[in-house]
Amino acid sequence: MEKYDAIIVGSGPAGMGAAFSILKRKKDARILMLDKRSYSTGGMRNDCKMNFTFPIGFPFEYWNEEDANRYLDEVIEFLQPNILSKSNIKTYQARAERLGCSLLEIKQTHLGTDGGLELIKELLKKLSEAGVTLSLGEEMLTIDNEKKIIKTDKREIRYKSILIAPGRQGFHFLQDVMHQLNIKYMDNIIDVGIRVETRIEHYPIVKDYYDPKFYFKEKVRTFCTNSGNAHVVKEKYATERGDIWYSVNGHAFKADESRNNGLVNFALLKTVRFTEPLASGQCFAEHLGLLAALMGGGKPLMQRVGDFRLGRRSKAATFNGDLYDFKPSLDACPSDISLAMPSKILRYIWSAMKNLDTIVPGVLHPSTIMYYPEIKLYANKPEYKDENFQVAEGVFFAGDGAGTSRGITGAWASGIRASEGMIRYF
Ligand SMILES: Cc1cc2nc3c(=O)[nH]c(=O)nc-3n(C[C@H](O)[C@H](O)[C@H](O)COP(=O)(O)OP(=O)(O)OC[C@H]3O[C@@H](n4cnc5c(N)ncnc54)[C@H](O)[C@@H]3O)c2cc1C
Repeated sequence: MEKYDAIIVGSGPAGMGAAFSILKRKKDARILMLDKRSYSTGGMRNDCKMNFTFPIGFPFEYWNEEDANRYLDEVIEFLQPNILSKSNIKTYQARAERLGCSLLEIKQTHLGTDGGLELIKELLKKLSEAGVTLSLGEEMLTIDNEKKIIKTDKREIRYKSILIAPGRQGFHFLQDVMHQLNIKYMDNIIDVGIRVETRIEHYPIVKDYYDPKFYFKEKVRTFCTNSGNAHVVKEKYATERGDIWYSVNGHAFKADESRNNGLVNFALLKTVRFTEPLASGQCFAEHLGLLAALMGGGKPLMQRVGDFRLGRRSKAATFNGDLYDFKPSLDACPSDISLAMPSKILRYIWSAMKNLDTIVPGVLHPSTIMYYPEIKLYANKPEYKDENFQVAEGVFFAGDGAGTSRGITGAWASGIRASEGMIRYF
């Protein structure tokens, strides 16, 4: 049976951060990186905008500014990003402050979905040249930490230390691993909201600031703005029983004026923290997702702002060639999102939309589309044994599925932090 100093499960940014960090610190380490797909499936593959300013992507439960900045410096040194310029920020900030909201100024770069894929290929090539064994298309199934063996869909492999970084879509898998290792965890926080799609002229701030980070009252924020050649997409999720639901998301290809579709999309999310007796935010999210799928005939829902304001359902006829119209970039079901969304969440989201329309006039144009649901299941919160995200002897978790990050750079930084604990085992 093959044996490695480090097995890294997941080739997303958390796995990459760990792999390159181990190579930097112990260049002869025997490393195996597994991914059930042929490439990282997360944000490095979709849009690949990276934020390099705390606290974006760094959950407060695990990070303070000083630590995050130390790791961010290492991420920046490795990735050498081209930070995008911004303009008119003070004007937007002053408008936001008058309403009791804020606009954070963040160092950002944007590679686009196509640019992200090029980066992933380049990183995998570098890993392979440095002697890392890559096994793409191999899925980890179970772990036996007494024997230090994992089982995949192809074989059994021994390890001295292991990082499990399966991303948000690996949420269930990570919970299975935690049951196998007897690790206590909580998952009581979720983000629920909508994705807004409109013409760039109705949200022109994106010409000044690629992914503007607005914070509104009641824990509502803008998230993951994409523009230029921008598209709304759906991510598939399955419940433990195998029922399918979708969360919407968004991405854009790299800046190229000739392929610009003139659209912008961004999420407006409300963070919801549950207390007893509800044990699982994930269960709550799944119920919301299933309700939306039920109403949409299996598709996410969409509604024009004009219809929403009149309290009317959007119909296929609302998405016609009218003067106000633009073609939605996602095949979603015209519907009435207020029938599917808990009213308290909807109220706060709509209030944030109105504030946003005062700060960036135009976003509430009648043609603007609101897609629902956009749900982020960040909150597997395992009981970590130390600051390197160790959960059991030699077993480490990192990345979005493990709750240690909420974005590419945070995931990369958590991978580095976990690797510092892993190398103590070899
Ligand atoms: C459509 C979309 C757009 C996004 N856009 C951005 C963005 O622009 N900027 C940003 O900062 N963040 C973005 N994100 C969020 C970003 O993807 C995550 O923050 C980041 O990728 C998390 O990194 P990770 O390493 O934890 O997980 P991931 O990147 O999700 O990687 C996890 C990997 O583990 C693999 N895996 C899972 N289970 C197993 C298993 N059992 N065995 C083997 N392999 C397994 C998966 O195939 C996957 O490749 C986006 C997410 C999505 C879905």
